[in-house]
Order: sequence, then structure tokens, then C-alpha cells
Amino acid sequence: MMQKITILGATGSIGQSTLSVIEQNSERYSVFALTANKSVKLLSEQCRQFKPKYAVVGSELLASDLRELLSLYDCSTEVLFGRQALCDVAGHSDVDTVMAAIVGAAGLLPTLSGVEAGKRILLANKEALVMGGRLFMDKVAEHGALLLPIDSEHNAIFQCLPSSCANLNESGVSKILLTGSGGPFRTRDVDTFDLVTPDEACAHPNWSMGRKISVDSATMMNKGLEFIEACWLFDAKCEDIEVVVHPQSVVHSMVQYRDGSVLAQMGNPDMRTPIAHCLAFPERINSGVKSLDFSSLSELSFESPDFERFPCLSLAMEASTMGEDFPIVLNAVNEIAVDLFIHKQLKFTQIAAVIGSVMESWDSSEPESIAAVIDADHRARIKANEAVKSIQS
Ligand code: NAD
Ligand code: MG
Repeated sequence: MMQKITILGATGSIGQSTLSVIEQNSERYSVFALTANKSVKLLSEQCRQFKPKYAVVGSELLASDLRELLSLYDCSTEVLFGRQALCDVAGHSDVDTVMAAIVGAAGLLPTLSGVEAGKRILLANKEALVMGGRLFMDKVAEHGALLLPIDSEHNAIFQCLPSSCANLNESGVSKILLTGSGGPFRTRDVDTFDLVTPDEACAHPNWSMGRKISVDSATMMNKGLEFIEACWLFDAKCEDIEVVVHPQSVVHSMVQYRDGSVLAQMGNPDMRTPIAHCLAFPERINSGVKSLDFSSLSELSFESPDFERFPCLSLAMEASTMGEDFPIVLNAVNEIAVDLFIHKQLKFTQIAAVIGSVMESWDSSEPESIAAVIDADHRARIKANEAVKSIQS
């Protein structure tokens, strides 16, 4: 049976890699809907090639731009806009699989719409799970959705765990080893961190990704968000997970067992591998990724993370042990700070400072609904803007 797929965030790095895997397996997958925030030109080309039933963009104006472009191609895709439309194409009864690849908190509600409709959810949008936390996982269970991790580390861990792993301890797991490259500044002189430019931060040594996650990799906030993501995905406690720096990004993470065995998943750093894995799970399909060439691999090295160099990693790990609203705050303030940094309105080192200052003054209360999650996110963004002003003055 042909699987029908909605790609939330089709024009992004993960979205484009997903379309590349679909293109190579067109006998198995068809595109039901593609969404983008602003990249109308690219979205129009994707619609022309993949002929989805629907395309969704961020505003009415962009929708009319897209319609005009599609009319040139004689493409019959119906164009919608706005948040409700994102939720509608994710939860539509004709859809089997939702690729959740919007960046940031904007992806939460559309992803949950897919969850609530019991879809196969391919989760790249880690921020949605970091924010939604327990409520997100409860909805997955309640609606019988199949949640599969696209994030390369979590996909690796998932592949290294036993197929029916309800409980880490009962499965003999002694530790999850979450690897990370350490980003572009693993060895840069810390005294020059104030001078880091957005382009330097986005020049990841191994992975080509969107700008927000690239900056998160440079601060290692990405590993921090992934730490929280792993706690929820694998029902792990903080002490079950160890962050290991592995600069070559060949091992994508590992699972250590009680008997001393360590299972690792390896491959070239290309997101088409986890995407293909989750699309076809439990089968295997071609992804277009070259196999590792062991004769040319010179070195695989591992080291402990430097928490002083990367305060964002510590902040995230702390947030995961505090009240359940702290990850929401961490994520929201990080989104604001990273955006300001990308627009050269905040220094690289001030990202952690802003997050730390909002977390310190945060009055915690457990969110009991998704509405409360969104409310905490809004309040944290207001506090973030205040903290930015005070740090800058
Ligand atoms: P990207 O910036 O390249 O793409 C983001 C996509 O989301 C685009 O299609 C954009 O149009 C859409 N979008 C942005 N803001 C939106 C909004 N407000 N409303 C609706 N749509 C919006 O990002 P990416 O690198 O593809 O990352 C996407 C997600 O996947 C992130 O959560 C990231 O952490 C995660 N992820 C990415 C990679 C990677 O290799 N790129 C790896 C692991 C996880
Ligand atoms: Mg990752």
C-alpha cells in the first residue's frame, strides 16, 4: 500500500532530505501535503515535482503568491495558509505519516494534531517534545500514534535498543550514550567566543542543517535539548544518559548493557539515513547515503563534554531535573536569543546568559494542559526580551 505523507517544514533541511528519500522510493510513498513558512518559490517547485493535494504557507499574501506560481506550472495543488491549516493537513484522515520538521515551538500544535489523529509521526522537531514533555508522550499513548525519532542520535539509540523496550532497566540497559560532535567551537579559544559571528556558528564541521539548529550545535544547546528529548522518548532518568563528545559524527549514539556490551549505530552524517529508517520501519529502503568506508576512516575519538565552554548544555541538563515547565522556558528563551544572535543583535556568549537569567527568576508551576505549555512559552518569551534589554544596557 502506498503511504501518504504530510511534510511539515518541507522547504527546510530535513524537509528536503525527506523528499529526496521519497523520490527514490516513489513506488512506496506519495506526498499528501507540503508546508513552508515563507519559502514560496522552493515550495512551488516541490509542488510541481511531487504534486501534493495540499500546500500550506504562513500567510494569505504568500498563499496568493504560491497560487500564482503554481498556475504557471498547471499544478492543481490546493493552497492553504495559517496554523489551523497546518494542523488540518497533519491530522487529515487520508494521511498515514507526518514528518514533523518545522523548526522550534511553531511545530508543537501541528505535530500534536498528527499525534491526536494516531499517525506515524517522524519527529525531527525536537523542540515540540521538549516543550510538550509528559503531556506530549501521554497523547502519543492515548491516541496510539507511532512516534519514531528522526534526530540522528535518538534514531541511533532506538536502533540499538531491543525492539520491545518498555523499560530500560528490565531490558538490561545500563546507560544511553548520547554522542555529539562538539560543534564548530570545540577547540576554539574561549576568550574569543564574544566575537563569534552567525556564519562561523552555522559552519558545522560535519552536518549541513538549518541555521537555528546549527547555532544550537555551536552552543551545544542542541545536545541539551536532545538530552531532554531522550529522557521522554526512552522513558529515561537523567542519570541513565551520558553525553559523549565524538568529533567525527560517525557513531550516532550508543546503548550500553549490563553485561558490558555496547551497541553503536554508525553511518555517514546524512539525515537521509534516519529518515529512510523511520519511513520504512521496520523494513529497510534505499536512502541514497553512501556506506561508510572503513578503510578511509582515520580515527574515531571520544571525550567528555566541557561544561564550562558550553554553559547551554549545563542549563539544559539542569532544566531537565527541575519543574516540568523549565524545559519550556529553556527552549523559548533559547529561540529568542538564537534569533537575536543570528540577526547580530546579541553576542554568542549572551545566549547562555539570557537563558540563565530567565531560568533563575522563573516562578515554576507544572503545566497541566497544552494550553498551559503555550502560555508558559509566551511568558518566557516576554521575560527573555526583558532579560535581553537588561543584559544589553
Ligand atoms: P530549517 O530551518 O532548515 O527548516 C525549517 C522548516 O520549518 C522550513 O520549511 C520552514 O519554512 C518551516 N518553518 C519555520 N518557521 C515556521 C513557522 N513559524 N511556521 C511554520 N513553518 C515554519 O530547519 P531544519 O534544519 O530542517 O530543522 C527542522 C527541525 O528538525 C528542527 O526542530 C531541528 O532541530 C530538527 N533537526 C534537524 C536536523 C538537521 O540535520 N537539519 C537534525 C536533527 C533534528
Ligand atoms: Mg541530533
